[in-house]
Amino acid sequence: MPAVWNFHDKVVLVTGASQGIGAVTAQMFAENGADVVIAARRPDELERRAELIRSTTGRRCLAVVADVTDPEQVKTMVDRALEAFGGIDILINNAGNSVRSSLRKLTPEVWQWGRALNLDSAAYCTMEVGKHFLERKAGVIVNISSVAGISGTMGEVPYSAGKAGIQMLTRVAAAEWGPHGIRVNCVAPGMTATEKMKGRLEAGVYNLEEVSARFPLRRPGTCEEVAYAILFFASDYASYITGQTLAVDGGPTIAGFTD
Ligand code: NDP
Repeated sequence: MPAVWNFHDKVVLVTGASQGIGAVTAQMFAENGADVVIAARRPDELERRAELIRSTTGRRCLAVVADVTDPEQVKTMVDRALEAFGGIDILINNAGNSVRSSLRKLTPEVWQWGRALNLDSAAYCTMEVGKHFLERKAGVIVNISSVAGISGTMGEVPYSAGKAGIQMLTRVAAAEWGPHGIRVNCVAPGMTATEKMKGRLEAGVYNLEEVSARFPLRRPGTCEEVAYAILFFASDYASYITGQTLAVDGGPTIAGFTD
């Protein structure tokens, strides 16, 4: 039986990993034996996170400053990871963010930004790391979507469309690359208690009780709960699973919102 959380000697590239779900995911991979490459745009936050991972896990952690909406920077990021570690085993396409606009107010610029951040970025990383995976005939990709990409969110059309697109990127990549030993799956979180979300709760943007009432499980998820699903898909326990999207959302996508 495979050791589910054993990632010893694996190299994992996590995009958007200076904070939130990406940071917790990278930390969890390192705690379970992996060397990690973490990427984001702000150098100070990224290096702080890398140092934390190194000092708490003893694993190697390379911080690469990159904007993953730019294919050139994606190429440089992947080259640096390969140079440093000699290979990549697992890619986590996590970078993304809500881009809000009603359809009525939507502009081409906002639409393009939403798509670039939430879909194009994952496609560029998949294409670049995919060359390496195809050469070695092995690799695992986990994409991070959102419940917005399953049921849609009013007022967030660029985000919802991008996050739906990443689910289809997952399926087609899984179908095309399955014969080459590459698995591709997708995790769709619901509202997750990241530092950013906690800040919004403290600032009164959301009310925790009101928010919690919308979920059958009566609370937002934690970054760890999302990371468990990501590590599961990346592990050998998921060796016969590909092309799937798993909602980690406390239930609203299957049960509807409570009234
Ligand atoms: P955060 O906003 O807390 O963190 C986002 C991370 O991505 C940061 O490290 C940020 O660093 C990095 N990032 C943002 N843009 C880019 C870019 N263009 N290139 C490289 N890195 C980038 O995100 P969350 O943890 O909340 O979300 C992680 C993923 O989960 C996202 O894809 C999000 O859409 C999805 N998700 C989150 C939910 C939630 O409730 N939190 C719910 C559903 C889905 P920097 O700014 O320095 O680049």
